[in-house]
Amino acid sequence: MKHTRLWGISAAAILLCGCTSTQLNNMDSSSGVSTSLTSSSDNSSGEVIYSSSVIEAEYTVSEKHSISQADSLDVFKEDTMYIANGGELTVDGKMTSEKGGKIIIQNGGVLILNNESQLECDLTIEKGGKLIVGENGKVSGGGSITVKNSFDEIECSGSVTAKIIPPAPVTENGVTTVGGVLLVNKKYSIPSDFGSELITDDEAGTGLIRDEAYDALCEMREASGYTMSIVSGFRSYRTQTAIYNRNVANYGEEEANTWSAKPGESEHQTGLAIDISSLEQSYGDTEEGKWLAENCHKFGFIIRFQQGKEPITGYIYEPWHVRYLGKSTATLVYDSGLALEEFLGVN
Ligand SMILES: [Zn+2]
Repeated sequence: MKHTRLWGISAAAILLCGCTSTQLNNMDSSSGVSTSLTSSSDNSSGEVIYSSSVIEAEYTVSEKHSISQADSLDVFKEDTMYIANGGELTVDGKMTSEKGGKIIIQNGGVLILNNESQLECDLTIEKGGKLIVGENGKVSGGGSITVKNSFDEIECSGSVTAKIIPPAPVTENGVTTVGGVLLVNKKYSIPSDFGSELITDDEAGTGLIRDEAYDALCEMREASGYTMSIVSGFRSYRTQTAIYNRNVANYGEEEANTWSAKPGESEHQTGLAIDISSLEQSYGDTEEGKWLAENCHKFGFIIRFQQGKEPITGYIYEPWHVRYLGKSTATLVYDSGLALEEFLGVN
């Protein structure tokens, strides 16, 4: 197996073009000295061995490169790898990295991880960069993935258990998002007219869940074989007001607050939340409920109010309430084992 170090990547690609040596610019201009690294020539096996006296090495991948399944990519503690405009690095082999190393995906750069990646270094996705974790991709380890802009810049169909550091919340016109994920809870409410375009029956104040959530539900029904009826989907601010007031009148404010949202604080007003099949906690123990908990992320949903997360979410365990986030983000949240608030860093 060939272990590929940063400068080996570009060189390997260049070798494919028939070159026998390559030169990569060291981007560290802080020293005021422009240094560069020149590779040795290839040996008979086609393997390239590099040596460098540069300790703090910074390299940029700005072309299409791939590391084959039989090979590995190693990022050492003194390395910083930039994947920049036009750079697309596909790692079909394993990746290892050391604490202290850095991988920075910049605008127009793409890193594709299709195998096991031991992430001990810090990986940063800047605006316009993209991290793709393929179906067989598994990113684990004590390192972290910092998302600077949006969760849309991660496309995950594999698994990521390394820590994800989200961007800061952004509030615009009374609506808060974190990395593009709409956040609605007891701390972050939405305006009363939010979702008004979804209201189809003005008398009842009920309406349609958003298309993407509905499509995902249909996909999930088909895959699971369960009917998964919508007990409650979109609820307008007005409907939520009536429901909340009724619950407070019947159960008292303190109890109602553990399972009934105040108007403006309900995810149902987003059109992205659905109560499925039942409103009994025992639903979580049914075959359908278990299937939902284990699989809904593959279709873009998360169980929003998990068992044991009550102090964080502020709500009792609701095995029936799913929130649509899209397949990739839902998978990241599921893999993290965290409540959405913890995942988004707002708990
Ligand atoms: Zn609900």
